[in-house]
Amino acid sequence: MSDMAKFLSERVLKLEESPTFALEQKVDKLDSVLKQAGDFVVRFGIGQPDFNTPDNIKSAAKKAIDENKTKYTASTGIKELKQAIVDKLKRDNSLEYSVENIFVGNGGKQVLDAIMRAFVNPGDFVLVPKPYWVSYTQQVILSEGIPLEVDFNESLKIELNHLRRLISQHTGRIKLLILNSPGNPTGAVYNLEELKEVSRTCLENNIFIISDEVYEKFIFGGARHISAASLGNDIKNITLTVNAASKTYAMTGWRIGYIAADRDIIAQMTKIQDQSTSNPCTPAQWAAVEALNGDQESVETMRREYEKRRNYIYSRLNGIEGISCSLPEGAFYVFPDVSNFYRKNIKNSFDFSNELLEKGHVAVVPGAAFGDDRFIRISYATAVDKIEEGMNRIEKFCSNLG
Ligand code: PLP
Repeated sequence: MSDMAKFLSERVLKLEESPTFALEQKVDKLDSVLKQAGDFVVRFGIGQPDFNTPDNIKSAAKKAIDENKTKYTASTGIKELKQAIVDKLKRDNSLEYSVENIFVGNGGKQVLDAIMRAFVNPGDFVLVPKPYWVSYTQQVILSEGIPLEVDFNESLKIELNHLRRLISQHTGRIKLLILNSPGNPTGAVYNLEELKEVSRTCLENNIFIISDEVYEKFIFGGARHISAASLGNDIKNITLTVNAASKTYAMTGWRIGYIAADRDIIAQMTKIQDQSTSNPCTPAQWAAVEALNGDQESVETMRREYEKRRNYIYSRLNGIEGISCSLPEGAFYVFPDVSNFYRKNIKNSFDFSNELLEKGHVAVVPGAAFGDDRFIRISYATAVDKIEEGMNRIEKFCSNLG
């Protein structure tokens, strides 16, 4: 630790840097070296749509700027956006809310952090099912809570027996469970029965549910997205539904995310927004109004494209001897098990990913970052020709490992 770092809080020193952002920096460096020789890195690292924000949404932001809608707004968002969210939740998720139930913040990540700050006292437990999105555990730690990792079953979803065991071992001390369907990094989608089991278990034990639904629109085959809060009023009362414009509308840089929850919880949480970030970017809020109220054809176009890519990657990966991969039903990730290749020089998912980057020039995220070292995560939010090239390289890399 440097001399200056020792002045910082234990809270911040305990925090890990985001492995996906760290990977991107490394990839940028290698890529610029390779570019000089006419080569490049195939980027399967970051979960960022390769599509541009649809034109109607961009126009709405330009119009807002021209109309000088550039000032502070209410800290949890303009009423037009809250109303658009209320309408969307009714239309898409069969959820009845009013504007007092809505909290708009600076992206899904920030509203999740605001929930942690609102619920977690030092030493409180938060159930984080593995494999998890990297920020969940770190956000719990930032609020001085303790993440309790829940094991997964062969479908890469919550192992209910383990969940129940953890709850009985920590009776009365668990505040929240984070449910992410469709899931990052697995692409797993919870069906009705699975959702009922998990949410009833939470209800019986006074555990609130964070239902992170940022990938809800990217769902494939016969799978269906179901919002946990739609399972009944008792479940709705204990659920905070989280969503964002980022993935659905290819708006990652605009930073609009939101929560729908009990109005008293939202009222208390508003103080966090008042005292920390104030409102999310005003023109971005107007863009999000158009995103939610406008034509949804671009979303379906992206969904179809992601489905094609999923099918291609899934069949290529399962064609590689030594790799096993379950079929993701949503999001834009696959999570193959590569542990068959672990030996002396490649001991874990970090080594595998490093070697693949340095020798094969393909960037993937080690599964250990998501709580399981047997896997790697491949994001297919990247152009089709790059995907084909990336899969060729992975195949060659694996066959060289033998
Ligand atoms: N939730 C999950 C599961 C994610 O994968 C992400 C982003 O990668 C987010 C939330 C946050 O999205 P954003 O902050 O970009 O809206």
